[in-house]
Amino acid sequence: MFDLIIIGTGPAGLTASIYATCFKLSHVVIGKVVGGQMILAPDILNYPGFEQISGRELTDRMVNQTKKRGGEILLESVKLVGKTDNGFRVVTETEKIYEAKTLILATGVERRKLNIPGENEYIGKGIEYCASCGKFDYAEKTAAVIGGANAAAQTAVQVGHSASKVYVVYRGTELRCDPIWLEQIKASQHIEVVYGAQVKEIKGDGQKVTGLQIEIKNPQTQAVESKELMVDKVFIEIGGVPGTALLIPLGVTMDEGGFISVDEKLSTNISGIYVAGDIIGHKYSIEQITSAVGSGARAASSVFSYLKQQKAPTLWGTSQIKRG
Ligand SMILES: Cc1cc2nc3c(=O)[nH]c(=O)nc-3n(C[C@H](O)[C@H](O)[C@H](O)COP(=O)(O)OP(=O)(O)OC[C@H]3O[C@@H](n4cnc5c(N)ncnc54)[C@H](O)[C@@H]3O)c2cc1C
Repeated sequence: MFDLIIIGTGPAGLTASIYATCFKLSHVVIGKVVGGQMILAPDILNYPGFEQISGRELTDRMVNQTKKRGGEILLESVKLVGKTDNGFRVVTETEKIYEAKTLILATGVERRKLNIPGENEYIGKGIEYCASCGKFDYAEKTAAVIGGANAAAQTAVQVGHSASKVYVVYRGTELRCDPIWLEQIKASQHIEVVYGAQVKEIKGDGQKVTGLQIEIKNPQTQAVESKELMVDKVFIEIGGVPGTALLIPLGVTMDEGGFISVDEKLSTNISGIYVAGDIIGHKYSIEQITSAVGSGARAASSVFSYLKQQKAPTLWGTSQIKRG
């Protein structure tokens, strides 16, 4: 029986382990992919202390630090989480069973993909998932942002500050973003919204993105026009699916998007279950590595306080009985 099981080996889970060791909590970290999404980041420019670092190198550094501190990392997929009398039971795909008094879930968000030709090929070669992760400078570039909600609108405005042209490619007839973003998009000389558009292919020259093949449907005539937009950058902002399915059978409260509802200690409605990283949703996370490591540290600290509190009434009760 461990004090804690951390599920997820991305930056949130690894940080939670580093802090758990500082708090002397016996624990194990279980994850499918070491580094999580971070390992996919070709060039990280916004992680303090490193002007520029690849996701792979940052992952190696976090893993080494976790292990050096005494954290144990198991590369396994968790298929089931259940309750026991004293805490929780975790079952992996290979039928290994682990038990702990508490859990931290740090299973991240799987970004929705378009699933179209060229998408896998050009990730990191012009396809971006995060405008603020890049060089913040798109001067002389033509970009396309795919999506129509807040994340897409915000990205268009941000990129539009420096890019010579930004297309927002959206299949709907009206952007679904907050008015503040809509106003800025309308006011911008550089941003053009292409409504009723489906992206069919991301084109490239083998090295980098060169264009987008789209189909635009005329809402009146229903006629479909095929068009190629020449772009150097493509931002895919069509949301993500949080890895929270494991907690559904336990009755953990989630919002309509599947993100877990937490309090300021990152505790869920089920006593002893905490969450960290991207799965918390936008109220407490900005889906960035800095935010993930911050919440990983917070969740481990909350587990430490929780276990201390759990112990305190027992000791007090025992001493009362002895005295009596
Ligand atoms: C291409 C790309 C570039 C990016 N660039 C930057 C950048 O430059 N700067 C920045 O700050 N952020 C960047 N991000 C975002 C950043 O990587 C994420 O915000 C961060 O990794 C979230 O950390 P996390 O620990 O919450 O989740 P994740 O990193 O998603 O890790 C989740 C972990 O949970 C594991 N897991 C999921 N389900 C299970 C299960 N059932 N059993 C076991 N394990 C499971 C996964 O294997 C993984 O280890 C980028 C993301 C991408 C995709």
